[in-house]
Amino acid sequence: MLATILDGNKIRDEIQAELLQQVADLKRRGVTPGLAAVLVGDNPASQIYVRSKVQASETLGLYSQKIEPSKNSTTEELLGLVHSLNQDERIDGILIQLPLPPQVDSRRVLNTVDPAKDVDGFHSVNLGNLVAGRPGFVPCTPAGILEILKRSKIPLSGARAVVIGRSDIVGKPVAMLLLHEHATVTICHSRTRDLPAVARQADILVAAIGKAAFVTAEFIKPGATVIDVGINRLTTQEEVRNVFHDPASRLETLAKRGSVLVGDVQPEDARSIAGAFTPVPGGVGPLTVIMLMSNTIKAARQRRAVAGG
Ligand code: NDP
Repeated sequence: MLATILDGNKIRDEIQAELLQQVADLKRRGVTPGLAAVLVGDNPASQIYVRSKVQASETLGLYSQKIEPSKNSTTEELLGLVHSLNQDERIDGILIQLPLPPQVDSRRVLNTVDPAKDVDGFHSVNLGNLVAGRPGFVPCTPAGILEILKRSKIPLSGARAVVIGRSDIVGKPVAMLLLHEHATVTICHSRTRDLPAVARQADILVAAIGKAAFVTAEFIKPGATVIDVGINRLTTQEEVRNVFHDPASRLETLAKRGSVLVGDVQPEDARSIAGAFTPVPGGVGPLTVIMLMSNTIKAARQRRAVAGG
């Protein structure tokens, strides 16, 4: 039997409908949540991400600002900008698009964001709260993964979860969230021995690696839920043929658009072995943006002392 597709766009739409209600309620109380998106430099992927975040905030009727300091900005200049956004009453959420240019001390910049406006959940205070299971802002991609699992009614308590990847942005926080849901969690990385055998124990397998179609049949326990976080671009016919057993439609996409998106999981293996899986595109990606919106609205409620925040 083919695996169920966990449709991120559909879940995003459900959450968006709930958030529209919350924004309408806040506006009735005179509050318009505000998001500032800071984009330093001209990284094309970052430009696309920031555009989609600003668009999402406009769709929800939030106040938004896109700020684009020069790619030569110094740490001190960005600290000054963050200080002014911390003081700006219209702004409830501050998003610093990563990566910052190499001359900038990213950790210092992230830790200068007011934790109450840290809607990406990257401030050390929020990361600490996440580890301790205390209220705070949770990074958006891991929060989105939990929404997918919960709204799809995937049992978490007592489940065996394996997370491949230990980044601060995805791997570690999603492992913490799964642990708080009472899963038994194993975190794997580039030095894990016999990774396929470890992964094959998972009822819930999260792949956040950044390597196209790295997770293949031998990693997947039949019936497992597979969450594919990776976003990788294939740019040659050879790469496309290596990943897809039946590449015709993907080769057309390559010819039209110049690249084909693929996750960290071999999609045809996931479809035939897993019980459920998130596709790429259209799985985890849409959740990341909507969870940023959710965090911004939550920040507005909390900062402006609206009940339920
Ligand atoms: P990082 O590069 O920060 O981390 C990658 C992790 O994968 C590291 O922990 C690394 O291990 C591990 N890894 C790399 N190679 C191997 C290997 N051969 N075997 C086992 N583990 C390995 O990536 P991110 O966490 O930031 O992102 C991961 C992927 O998710 C990327 O494709 C990124 O584009 C995507 N992403 C998608 C988002 C979305 O909205 N859908 C949002 C954020 C990221 P080690 O620590 O040992 O080096």
